[in-house]
Amino acid sequence: MGYSSAVYRTTKREMDKRRQLVFENQEKRKKIFYNKCPRAQEIEREIASTSIRVAKQVFSGKANVKEQLEKLKNYNLNLQKELSELLVKNGFPENFLEEWYKCNLCKDTGYINGKMCSCMKQLLRDTAYNELNSKSPLSLCDFSTFDVSLYSGEVQMGQKTSPIEKMSKIFEYCKKYAENFSLNSDNLLLRGSTGLGKTHLSLAIAKYVISKGFGVIYFSAPNLVNQLEKERFGDLSDNENTEEILTDCDLLILDDMGTEHNSAYATSAIYNIINTRIMVGKPTIINTNLTISDLQEEYSKRLVSRIMGDFTRLEFVGKDIRQIKKLKGLI
Ligand SMILES: [Zn+2]
Repeated sequence: MGYSSAVYRTTKREMDKRRQLVFENQEKRKKIFYNKCPRAQEIEREIASTSIRVAKQVFSGKANVKEQLEKLKNYNLNLQKELSELLVKNGFPENFLEEWYKCNLCKDTGYINGKMCSCMKQLLRDTAYNELNSKSPLSLCDFSTFDVSLYSGEVQMGQKTSPIEKMSKIFEYCKKYAENFSLNSDNLLLRGSTGLGKTHLSLAIAKYVISKGFGVIYFSAPNLVNQLEKERFGDLSDNENTEEILTDCDLLILDDMGTEHNSAYATSAIYNIINTRIMVGKPTIINTNLTISDLQEEYSKRLVSRIMGDFTRLEFVGKDIRQIKKLKGLI
């Protein structure tokens, strides 16, 4: 997985901060303990000075160095023992004075024998996702702010159910989808005119799924195409690899598909991302205002047939909720 150098820099800074915090917190704990038990500080100083005495013994060249070293070792062990007993006696855990790492595998260095530790891989991933999601309104929408009562209860001509009934079902479906989300979840196509709540519900799904610990990326199609074209044809000094990250994330939400400017490159990049995700079995949610025949006109046949064959379609109905909210003075 390739990330940009900016992502690497941010991650490195975060790892440095983690390590610094480990030692700062250790110092704080030591102070707390020494205040309560001054003898402990004496012991710590004594332990530190024995290592100097060991070095002196080794370099002195005197006879019976081995015997002297053995003595010092025992002396040191006794001091350690006394320290542990003092900790327990004063109600502290035995490891109270040690370094408390976030990751014990790599001691928060990010590497084990020159290989990147899983904690750093996770942090790189989170950093990249945060950066890609930083331009989207991910934090603004959740299920509790979706108001189904704004949809009409009147059954339209030629329909069997009212918008409020249909939208209640869609709302429940999306909520369950988020609650039960897994890498085996379905792909969804949220289709309907502007202002019917597609973005709101997909962002609510994103927020919920992120809170369950999954890696989610939300992108509007125009922003995605801009980003991919910039990486493909623009300044290549930074080795950003959005296409790879989008293919790899646990859930990809592609909003406003069909509003991006159309180019052969954009169409094929979008197809590649969606197709690869289907092949490796990772869920995608697409929002679009386009009808199926519009989609067929805008995109290649193979992309539309992929979407038709592999996505569960949710048809959003009703009148523009943003207009209704405005009329009611809600926004
Ligand atoms: Zn680690």
